[in-house]
Amino acid sequence: MKTINITLIKGDGIGPEVSDSAMKVINATGLKINWDIVNAGKDTFDKTGCLVPDDVFKSIEKNKIVLKAPITTPVASGFRSINVMLRKKYNLFSNIRPILPIDSLNTNYKKLDIVIFRENTEGLYIGDEEKIDENTFIAKKLVTRCASEKIISRAFEFAKENNRKKVTVVHKANILKETDGLFLKIAKEISKEFPSVILEDRIIDNMCMQLVMNPIQFDVIVTMNLYGDILSDLCSGFIGGLGLAPGANIGDDIAIFEAVHGSAPDIAGKNIANPSALILSGAMMLDYLDKHKEANLIRKSLNNILKEKTCLTRDLGGNTSTTDFTNNLIYEIEKQK
Ligand code: NAD
Repeated sequence: MKTINITLIKGDGIGPEVSDSAMKVINATGLKINWDIVNAGKDTFDKTGCLVPDDVFKSIEKNKIVLKAPITTPVASGFRSINVMLRKKYNLFSNIRPILPIDSLNTNYKKLDIVIFRENTEGLYIGDEEKIDENTFIAKKLVTRCASEKIISRAFEFAKENNRKKVTVVHKANILKETDGLFLKIAKEISKEFPSVILEDRIIDNMCMQLVMNPIQFDVIVTMNLYGDILSDLCSGFIGGLGLAPGANIGDDIAIFEAVHGSAPDIAGKNIANPSALILSGAMMLDYLDKHKEANLIRKSLNNILKEKTCLTRDLGGNTSTTDFTNNLIYEIEKQK
């Protein structure tokens, strides 16, 4: 069996706990993986004075596949987001966030199966803010044809390849006629190349209401950076919360797999975080590497241990620690192999 080289970024807050868990679970599938463990972010800065040491870039560029735990970004001051910087630097234009309930958990939305495609490199996330005076600031929103075409095409290709019926493009083109207007116009153009897929559009505020009232009506969603971020957190609530929502950042050459959630400083270091979101992001990574058998083994085993109801982390109403949860999952994987 060929060894796979993967960069693992340990992250901040609950990052080291959930990344250690995900790494052990993926190893339990029997794949031969050479993990290149590096770190970036607030904790790294506090220790070394450097936010992203050179070895992080070197490792990403060499391995091209990354499993990344969340990194803290200070609110309203301090350094800019390293997550956003990595997505921009490596042109990881597709942020793909599936919202799929775990069979064995009781959610109100058993039939839900949404995949969110979020543009990942521009919009308001370019962080270009201008000071007019002490009490007046402007934030610029970048929307280009090139990046919009890439993410919208990806969403339609995914829909076609997976027999999905519908793509919903989400925007605010009634107010932002040029930026969001361009995104919507491109969606309409691209949809003509995919006659088997229905295109519908929703204004972001209406979309939030419709999601909360009746999420089952949605299939594939494609949208801009900020709306996609907000909608994916909202949708994670349908399936049991952020502890269960995985994601992938995919470009032409490099892919970084990470959970939807952040570094959760409120529960960091307590051994109570739910590692499932990063583990499921790892399963997406294995699918990307064509290791479908191992990816399915992880998903099936996770489903089995959650069915027991005796192995639930605190966010799911139980009191199992991160390490016990991980050990139970590894035991189940060994049993299923
Ligand atoms: P968060 O996602 O970290 O936490 C929101 C809530 O969900 C908290 O109550 C937290 O305890 C809970 N939660 C999150 N993940 C959990 C898990 N795996 N298990 C159990 N509970 C979990 O969002 P936040 O508090 O708004 O952000 C904290 C920090 O994370 C900020 O600095 C933010 O910038 C950063 N962040 C990073 C990323 C990333 O690295 N991709 C993404 C989002 C936020």
